[in-house]
Amino acid sequence: MAAAIGVVITEHIVAGRLQEENEQMVVVGEHLRFPADPSETEALIGMPTSEMYELLAQLIKRLISETPDRGATGSVTAIGVAVPGVVRNGVVQDAPNLAQIKGLRFGEALSAVLREQGVHAPVHILNDADAVAAGLASRGGHLDRLIRVWTLGNGIGYGRWPIADGVWEGGHTVVTLDPRERFCGCGGVGHIEGIMGNRAMRLRFMDMEPEDVFANGKSGDARCSEFVDLWHRALAAGCATAIHLGGPGRFYFTGLNIRFLDIKLLREHLDAMVRMSLLQSYSLEVLPAEDAISILGAGVAALRAQQEW
Ligand SMILES: [Zn+2]
Repeated sequence: MAAAIGVVITEHIVAGRLQEENEQMVVVGEHLRFPADPSETEALIGMPTSEMYELLAQLIKRLISETPDRGATGSVTAIGVAVPGVVRNGVVQDAPNLAQIKGLRFGEALSAVLREQGVHAPVHILNDADAVAAGLASRGGHLDRLIRVWTLGNGIGYGRWPIADGVWEGGHTVVTLDPRERFCGCGGVGHIEGIMGNRAMRLRFMDMEPEDVFANGKSGDARCSEFVDLWHRALAAGCATAIHLGGPGRFYFTGLNIRFLDIKLLREHLDAMVRMSLLQSYSLEVLPAEDAISILGAGVAALRAQQEW
Protein backbone atom coordinates (compact mmCIF):
# COMPACT_ATOMS: atom_id res chain seq x y z
CA MET A 1 0.00 0.00 0.00
CA ALA A 2 1.36 3.39 -0.98
CA ALA A 3 2.33 5.82 1.77
CA ALA A 4 4.13 9.11 1.46
CA ILE A 5 5.15 12.28 3.23
CA GLY A 6 4.22 15.68 1.83
CA VAL A 7 6.15 18.79 2.89
CA VAL A 8 5.34 22.30 1.73
CA ILE A 9 7.67 25.27 2.15
CA THR A 10 6.15 28.72 1.63
CA GLU A 11 6.54 31.49 4.23
CA HIS A 12 6.41 28.61 6.69
CA ILE A 13 6.71 24.82 6.56
CA VAL A 14 3.86 22.33 6.85
CA ALA A 15 4.20 18.58 6.64
CA GLY A 16 1.88 15.61 6.79
CA ARG A 17 1.53 11.95 6.07
CA LEU A 18 -0.45 10.34 3.23
CA GLN A 19 -1.86 6.89 2.97
CA GLU A 20 -4.07 5.03 0.60
CA GLU A 21 -7.74 4.71 1.50
CA ASN A 22 -10.37 3.37 -0.90
CA GLU A 23 -8.00 3.72 -3.85
CA GLN A 24 -7.40 7.41 -3.07
CA MET A 25 -4.44 9.02 -1.38
CA VAL A 26 -5.51 10.99 1.67
CA VAL A 27 -3.71 13.03 4.30
CA VAL A 28 -3.96 11.38 7.69
CA GLY A 29 -2.97 12.34 11.23
CA GLU A 30 -1.85 15.74 12.42
CA HIS A 31 0.05 18.27 10.32
CA LEU A 32 3.32 19.58 11.62
CA ARG A 33 4.04 23.26 11.24
CA PHE A 34 7.09 25.50 11.58
CA PRO A 35 7.02 28.06 13.03
CA ALA A 36 4.09 27.11 15.24
CA ASP A 37 2.93 30.75 15.44
CA PRO A 38 1.04 31.55 12.18
CA SER A 39 1.63 35.30 12.58
CA GLU A 40 5.37 34.73 12.23
CA THR A 41 5.83 34.99 8.45
CA GLU A 42 9.56 35.62 8.14
CA ALA A 43 11.07 32.71 10.07
CA LEU A 44 12.53 31.09 6.93
CA ILE A 45 13.95 34.22 5.35
CA GLY A 46 17.72 34.00 5.67
CA MET A 47 17.70 30.64 7.50
CA PRO A 48 20.93 28.80 6.56
CA THR A 49 20.19 25.81 4.32
CA SER A 50 21.96 23.36 6.67
CA GLU A 51 19.55 24.43 9.40
CA MET A 52 16.62 24.06 6.99
CA TYR A 53 17.61 20.50 5.97
CA GLU A 54 17.93 19.55 9.63
CA LEU A 55 14.55 21.06 10.45
CA LEU A 56 12.90 19.23 7.52
CA ALA A 57 14.56 15.96 8.52
CA GLN A 58 13.19 16.32 12.06
CA LEU A 59 9.64 16.91 10.77
CA ILE A 60 9.85 14.01 8.30
CA LYS A 61 11.22 11.63 10.92
CA ARG A 62 8.48 12.58 13.35
CA LEU A 63 5.81 11.84 10.74
CA ILE A 64 7.39 8.51 9.85
CA SER A 65 7.55 7.52 13.53
CA GLU A 66 3.81 8.24 13.78
CA THR A 67 2.96 5.81 10.98
CA PRO A 68 0.68 3.30 12.65
CA ASP A 69 1.89 -0.29 13.19
CA ARG A 70 5.14 0.29 11.43
CA GLY A 71 7.50 2.96 12.65
CA ALA A 72 10.08 1.85 10.17
CA THR A 73 11.24 4.14 7.40
CA GLY A 74 10.41 1.39 4.92
CA SER A 75 6.72 2.22 5.39
CA VAL A 76 7.06 5.44 3.38
CA THR A 77 7.64 5.08 -0.36
CA ALA A 78 8.21 8.70 -1.31
CA ILE A 79 8.77 12.13 0.19
CA GLY A 80 7.53 15.16 -1.75
CA VAL A 81 8.88 18.60 -0.89
CA ALA A 82 7.24 21.64 -2.46
CA VAL A 83 9.38 24.78 -2.58
CA PRO A 84 8.60 28.37 -3.59
CA GLY A 85 10.66 28.51 -6.75
CA VAL A 86 11.33 27.31 -10.26
CA VAL A 87 12.17 23.62 -10.11
CA ARG A 88 13.61 21.75 -13.09
CA ASN A 89 15.34 18.39 -13.07
CA GLY A 90 15.73 18.43 -9.30
CA VAL A 91 17.39 21.86 -9.22
CA VAL A 92 15.83 24.97 -7.69
CA GLN A 93 16.65 27.26 -10.57
CA ASP A 94 15.32 30.37 -8.90
CA ALA A 95 13.56 31.26 -5.67
CA PRO A 96 13.03 35.02 -5.39
CA ASN A 97 11.21 34.66 -2.06
CA LEU A 98 13.60 32.17 -0.47
CA ALA A 99 16.89 33.24 -1.99
CA GLN A 100 19.17 30.82 -0.10
CA ILE A 101 17.79 27.76 -1.93
CA LYS A 102 18.46 29.13 -5.42
CA GLY A 103 20.73 26.88 -7.47
CA LEU A 104 20.57 23.99 -5.01
CA ARG A 105 19.89 20.34 -5.76
CA PHE A 106 17.56 20.62 -2.81
CA GLY A 107 16.09 17.12 -3.00
CA GLU A 108 19.48 15.43 -3.27
CA ALA A 109 20.90 17.44 -0.39
CA LEU A 110 17.92 16.70 1.82
CA SER A 111 18.10 13.00 0.85
CA ALA A 112 21.72 12.89 2.01
CA VAL A 113 20.83 14.41 5.38
CA LEU A 114 17.91 11.97 5.74
CA ARG A 115 20.05 8.95 4.81
CA GLU A 116 22.51 9.82 7.57
CA GLN A 117 19.57 9.63 9.92
CA GLY A 118 18.32 6.30 8.60
CA VAL A 119 15.57 7.52 6.24
CA HIS A 120 15.98 6.09 2.73
CA ALA A 121 12.76 7.04 0.91
CA PRO A 122 13.46 9.06 -2.23
CA VAL A 123 12.87 12.83 -2.08
CA HIS A 124 11.07 14.55 -4.96
CA ILE A 125 10.97 18.35 -5.16
CA LEU A 126 8.40 20.43 -6.98
CA ASN A 127 7.05 23.96 -7.11
CA ASP A 128 4.68 24.90 -4.27
CA ALA A 129 1.88 26.12 -6.53
CA ASP A 130 2.15 22.91 -8.58
CA ALA A 131 1.65 21.02 -5.32
CA VAL A 132 -1.66 22.84 -4.76
CA ALA A 133 -2.77 21.96 -8.30
CA ALA A 134 -1.71 18.33 -7.81
CA GLY A 135 -3.57 18.18 -4.50
CA LEU A 136 -6.77 19.57 -6.02
CA ALA A 137 -6.56 17.16 -8.94
CA SER A 138 -5.95 14.23 -6.62
CA ARG A 139 -8.70 15.13 -4.16
CA GLY A 140 -11.25 15.55 -6.91
CA GLY A 141 -10.10 12.33 -8.60
CA HIS A 142 -9.23 14.39 -11.71
CA LEU A 143 -5.59 13.52 -12.16
CA ASP A 144 -6.27 13.56 -15.93
CA ARG A 145 -7.64 17.12 -16.05
CA LEU A 146 -5.94 20.51 -16.51
CA ILE A 147 -6.00 22.51 -13.26
CA ARG A 148 -4.44 25.91 -12.78
CA VAL A 149 -3.89 27.62 -9.46
CA TRP A 150 -2.78 31.10 -8.50
CA THR A 151 -1.28 31.41 -5.03
CA LEU A 152 -1.51 34.95 -3.69
CA GLY A 153 0.95 35.77 -0.91
CA ASN A 154 4.38 37.32 -0.50
CA GLY A 155 5.01 36.11 -4.01
CA ILE A 156 2.51 35.18 -6.71
CA GLY A 157 2.68 31.52 -7.67
CA TYR A 158 1.18 29.78 -10.66
CA GLY A 159 0.69 26.07 -10.50
CA ARG A 160 -0.63 23.52 -12.91
CA TRP A 161 -1.46 19.89 -12.99
CA PRO A 162 -0.52 17.76 -14.85
CA ILE A 163 3.00 18.95 -14.13
CA ALA A 164 4.57 19.68 -17.50
CA ASP A 165 8.18 20.42 -18.27
CA GLY A 166 8.73 24.15 -18.48
CA VAL A 167 9.28 27.12 -16.23
CA TRP A 168 5.66 28.19 -15.67
CA GLU A 169 6.51 31.31 -13.70
CA GLY A 170 3.05 32.76 -14.28
CA GLY A 171 3.48 35.22 -11.40
CA HIS A 172 6.07 37.01 -13.54
CA THR A 173 3.76 37.39 -16.51
CA VAL A 174 4.11 40.92 -17.86
CA VAL A 175 0.80 42.70 -17.37
CA THR A 176 1.75 46.35 -17.84
CA LEU A 177 4.11 48.29 -20.11
CA ASP A 178 4.47 51.09 -17.55
CA PRO A 179 8.26 51.43 -16.98
CA ARG A 180 7.61 52.60 -13.40
CA GLU A 181 6.22 49.17 -12.46
CA ARG A 182 9.40 47.74 -11.00
CA PHE A 183 8.45 46.32 -7.61
CA CYS A 184 8.76 42.63 -8.51
CA GLY A 185 11.09 40.60 -6.29
CA CYS A 186 12.81 39.20 -9.40
CA GLY A 187 13.74 42.70 -10.60
CA GLY A 188 11.67 42.46 -13.80
CA VAL A 189 9.51 45.36 -14.96
CA GLY A 190 5.74 45.12 -15.29
CA HIS A 191 5.17 41.75 -13.58
CA ILE A 192 2.01 40.52 -11.83
CA GLU A 193 3.97 39.91 -8.63
CA GLY A 194 5.28 43.48 -8.80
CA ILE A 195 1.68 44.62 -8.38
CA MET A 196 0.08 41.86 -6.32
CA GLY A 197 2.79 40.46 -4.04
CA ASN A 198 2.97 41.61 -0.41
CA ARG A 199 6.56 42.74 -0.74
CA ALA A 200 5.69 44.77 -3.82
CA MET A 201 2.67 46.34 -2.12
CA ARG A 202 4.84 47.37 0.83
CA LEU A 203 7.35 48.98 -1.53
CA ARG A 204 4.58 50.85 -3.35
CA PHE A 205 2.83 52.07 -0.20
CA MET A 206 5.74 52.74 2.11
CA ASP A 207 3.45 54.02 4.86
CA MET A 208 0.79 51.28 4.73
CA GLU A 209 0.46 47.55 5.17
CA PRO A 210 -1.43 45.69 2.39
CA GLU A 211 -4.49 45.23 4.65
CA ASP A 212 -4.64 49.00 5.21
CA VAL A 213 -4.45 49.64 1.48
CA PHE A 214 -7.46 47.39 0.83
CA ALA A 215 -9.39 48.75 3.82
CA ASN A 216 -8.75 52.35 2.70
CA GLY A 217 -9.72 51.41 -0.84
CA LYS A 218 -13.09 50.24 0.45
CA SER A 219 -13.65 53.42 2.44
CA GLY A 220 -13.08 55.53 -0.66
CA ASP A 221 -9.44 56.67 -0.56
CA ALA A 222 -8.77 57.42 -4.23
CA ARG A 223 -5.15 56.21 -4.42
CA CYS A 224 -5.98 52.97 -2.61
CA SER A 225 -9.15 52.18 -4.51
CA GLU A 226 -7.32 52.80 -7.80
CA PHE A 227 -4.69 50.34 -6.65
CA VAL A 228 -7.29 47.73 -5.61
CA ASP A 229 -8.63 47.90 -9.16
CA LEU A 230 -5.11 47.58 -10.61
CA TRP A 231 -4.48 44.56 -8.35
CA HIS A 232 -7.54 42.80 -9.77
CA ARG A 233 -6.75 43.82 -13.35
CA ALA A 234 -3.25 42.37 -12.99
CA LEU A 235 -4.66 39.00 -11.94
CA ALA A 236 -7.27 39.13 -14.68
CA ALA A 237 -4.51 39.81 -17.22
CA GLY A 238 -2.56 36.82 -15.93
CA CYS A 239 -5.61 34.58 -16.30
CA ALA A 240 -6.36 36.02 -19.74
CA THR A 241 -2.85 35.18 -20.93
CA ALA A 242 -3.13 31.66 -19.51
CA ILE A 243 -6.48 31.24 -21.27
CA HIS A 244 -5.16 32.56 -24.59
CA LEU A 245 -2.22 30.14 -24.40
CA GLY A 246 -3.73 27.07 -22.75
CA GLY A 247 -7.46 27.40 -23.23
CA PRO A 248 -10.29 28.00 -20.78
CA GLY A 249 -10.93 25.67 -17.85
CA ARG A 250 -10.85 26.04 -14.13
CA PHE A 251 -8.75 28.52 -12.18
CA TYR A 252 -8.36 28.34 -8.42
CA PHE A 253 -7.11 31.13 -6.20
CA THR A 254 -5.55 30.39 -2.86
CA GLY A 255 -3.03 31.74 -0.36
CA LEU A 256 -3.08 34.34 2.38
CA ASN A 257 -4.22 37.21 0.15
CA ILE A 258 -7.44 35.72 -1.15
CA ARG A 259 -8.78 37.86 1.73
CA PHE A 260 -8.32 40.79 -0.68
CA LEU A 261 -9.86 39.06 -3.69
CA ASP A 262 -13.20 40.27 -5.06
CA ILE A 263 -14.09 37.50 -7.49
CA LYS A 264 -16.88 39.56 -9.10
CA LEU A 265 -14.50 42.40 -9.91
CA LEU A 266 -11.93 39.90 -11.21
CA ARG A 267 -14.53 38.32 -13.46
CA GLU A 268 -15.59 41.73 -14.85
CA HIS A 269 -12.02 42.53 -15.83
CA LEU A 270 -11.42 39.06 -17.23
CA ASP A 271 -14.62 39.18 -19.29
CA ALA A 272 -13.35 42.37 -20.88
CA MET A 273 -9.99 40.75 -21.68
CA VAL A 274 -11.18 37.42 -23.12
CA ARG A 275 -13.63 38.03 -25.96
CA MET A 276 -13.27 34.97 -28.22
CA SER A 277 -16.38 32.94 -27.53
CA LEU A 278 -14.60 29.59 -27.59
CA LEU A 279 -12.42 30.79 -24.72
CA GLN A 280 -15.17 32.13 -22.47
CA SER A 281 -16.08 28.89 -20.74
CA TYR A 282 -13.57 29.39 -17.91
CA SER A 283 -14.49 29.24 -14.25
CA LEU A 284 -12.99 30.96 -11.23
CA GLU A 285 -12.99 29.55 -7.73
CA VAL A 286 -11.59 30.83 -4.45
CA LEU A 287 -10.07 28.14 -2.31
CA PRO A 288 -9.41 28.92 1.34
CA ALA A 289 -5.78 28.16 2.11
CA GLU A 290 -5.78 24.59 3.32
CA ASP A 291 -2.50 22.94 4.17
CA ALA A 292 -3.94 19.48 3.54
CA ILE A 293 -4.33 20.14 -0.20
CA SER A 294 -0.72 21.11 -0.86
CA ILE A 295 0.59 18.37 1.46
CA LEU A 296 -1.50 15.88 -0.50
CA GLY A 297 -0.23 17.29 -3.81
CA ALA A 298 3.43 17.13 -2.76
CA GLY A 299 3.01 13.52 -1.65
CA VAL A 300 1.05 12.43 -4.71
CA ALA A 301 3.52 14.10 -7.09
CA ALA A 302 6.36 12.28 -5.31
CA LEU A 303 4.57 8.94 -5.63
CA ARG A 304 3.89 9.65 -9.30
CA ALA A 305 7.56 10.45 -9.83
CA GLN A 306 8.37 7.00 -8.36
CA GLN A 307 5.57 5.51 -10.46
CA GLU A 308 4.15 4.25 -7.19
CA TRP A 309 0.69 5.70 -7.66
ZN1 LIG B 1 9.03 39.15 -11.54
